[in-house]
Amino acid sequence: MNLHDTPEQAAFRERARDFIREHAPWDQVQQARRLRFAGKPFADEADWIALSRRWQQIKHAHGWACLVWPRECGGQGLSPIENVIFQQEEQDFVELNGPFMISQGFIAPTLMSFASEAQQREFLPAIARGDTVWCQMFSEPGAGSDLAGVRTRAERVAGGWTLKGQKVWTSGAHYAAWGMALVRTDADVVKHKGLTMVFMKMDSPGITVRPIEELSGHAHFNEVFLDEVFVPDAQVLGGVNQGWSVALTTLMNERMTIGASTPMGIEEIFELAMQPDADGRRPIDSESVRMKLAEWHTKDCGIRYGVQRMLTAIAAGASPGPEASVGKLVGANATQEIAAFGLDLLGNRALAQADGDDAAYCFHWMFHFGALHRVEGGTDEIMRNVLAERVLGLPAEHRADKGPFRDVPTAPPAA
Ligand SMILES: Cc1cc2nc3c(=O)[nH]c(=O)nc-3n(C[C@H](O)[C@H](O)[C@H](O)COP(=O)(O)OP(=O)(O)OC[C@H]3O[C@@H](n4cnc5c(N)ncnc54)[C@H](O)[C@@H]3O)c2cc1C
Repeated sequence: MNLHDTPEQAAFRERARDFIREHAPWDQVQQARRLRFAGKPFADEADWIALSRRWQQIKHAHGWACLVWPRECGGQGLSPIENVIFQQEEQDFVELNGPFMISQGFIAPTLMSFASEAQQREFLPAIARGDTVWCQMFSEPGAGSDLAGVRTRAERVAGGWTLKGQKVWTSGAHYAAWGMALVRTDADVVKHKGLTMVFMKMDSPGITVRPIEELSGHAHFNEVFLDEVFVPDAQVLGGVNQGWSVALTTLMNERMTIGASTPMGIEEIFELAMQPDADGRRPIDSESVRMKLAEWHTKDCGIRYGVQRMLTAIAAGASPGPEASVGKLVGANATQEIAAFGLDLLGNRALAQADGDDAAYCFHWMFHFGALHRVEGGTDEIMRNVLAERVLGLPAEHRADKGPFRDVPTAPPAA
C-alpha cells in the first residue's frame, strides 16, 4: 500500500487544486467549512440542489466529473486513487455532492452492469452532468436489514408489470426524476429468488411520494406508495427473478461509498478543546480529554489507511474486502461520540444554541447525523454480523426463512 503520492499523482493533485481554486463556487460558499453542517447556508433545499447542480455541471464541462466512469458513460476513465485525490481536494464542497451520491455512487454502477447499451447511453451522461437524480427504492416497512423480504408485488400484464406496495426511507424521492425498485415477482420460491429489479419515472401514474420530517426538522427521505404503477418490460434490470444479484451490486457500491467516509468533526473537536473558557482554562489541558482526542485521531487514521488499502487493492484488480464495513461501523460510531463530547464541552451553550453559534449548531447536527449514519447502508448490528461471519468465520445466524417466501412467518405465532 502506498501512502504517499507518486510524482504523477502529485501532479494530478496540483491540477485538481488549480481547477477547484479557479472554478468552485467560493462566492456562494463564503464559509466553506460551514457548508459541511448544511442547514444555515442552505435553509432552502431548492437552493442547495441548484448550487450542487451548477457545480456538477462545471466539473463535467472541465473533465472532473465521475472520474472513474468510462468516457462513453460521461466519465473520465481514471483510477480509483485519482478519484480519491480529487475528493480530498474537493472536501470543502462535499455537501454539493449530496444530491448525486445515490445516483452516481450506487445506481450508475448498477446501470453499467445491467442496463442495455442504449439505456446506458441515455441515462449515464445525464447522471454524470447532474441533470437527472435517481432514487433507490429498496427498503419497506417490513424489509430493511432483511432486504430480501420485500413485499411490494409486481403482477404480469401485457408488455410489462404493475406494481403495488410501499417503500420507505427513500432518500431524495421528492426531487428524483427516476427510481430503481426491488419488487417481488414470485412468492413461491425462496425469498432471494423471487425478486426483480425495475426502474421507473417518478412521475408515473400511481406513485405518491410523501416526505418524512426528521427530528432535525429536515425532510431528507420519503415514503413512496406504488398503486398499480405500470413498468414496461424494457425497464426490468438483469432479468425477471434475478433482482437479488442486481441489488447486491447496488449494495456493494453503497457500502463502499458510505464506508469510505471517515469520522466527522475531528478538526472541530480539536478546535473546541483548545478554546479557553472565561478563566483561561482549555479542555485540552486535561489528560482525560487528550486521551479521548487521541483515540478519535487514531480511529480516523485507521479508517483512512483502511480505505487507502481497499483502493490500492481495487486498483490492482482485487475485490473490496471487509474494510468498508469496518470503516462504516467505526466511523459512524466515532462521529456520534465526538458530537456528544462536543455538546458536553459546550455545556449551556449547547442547550441555548444561540443564533450564529456555529459550534453549537455543528455538534447538534453531527449528533443527529451520526444516528442516521449508524443505520443507513446497514446498521451497526448488520455490520457486526458481516464481520463476524465473513472475517472471523463465526457460525451464521439461525434462519427461519429458508422455504418458499409465501410460507415465511410475518408475525410470531399466536400464544
Ligand atoms: C439516512 C438514511 C437514508 C436512507 N436512504 C435509503 C434509501 O435511499 N433507499 C432505501 O431503500 N433505504 C434507505 N434507508 C433505509 C436503510 O437502508 C434501512 O433503514 C436499514 O437498512 C435498516 O433497516 P430498517 O430501518 O428496516 O431497520 P430493521 O432492519 O427493522 O432493524 C431494526 C433493528 O434491528 C436490528 N437487526 C435487524 N436484523 C438484525 C440481525 N439479523 N441481527 C441483529 N440485529 C438486527 C437492526 O440493527 C436495528 O437496530 C436509509 C436509511 C437512513 C438512516
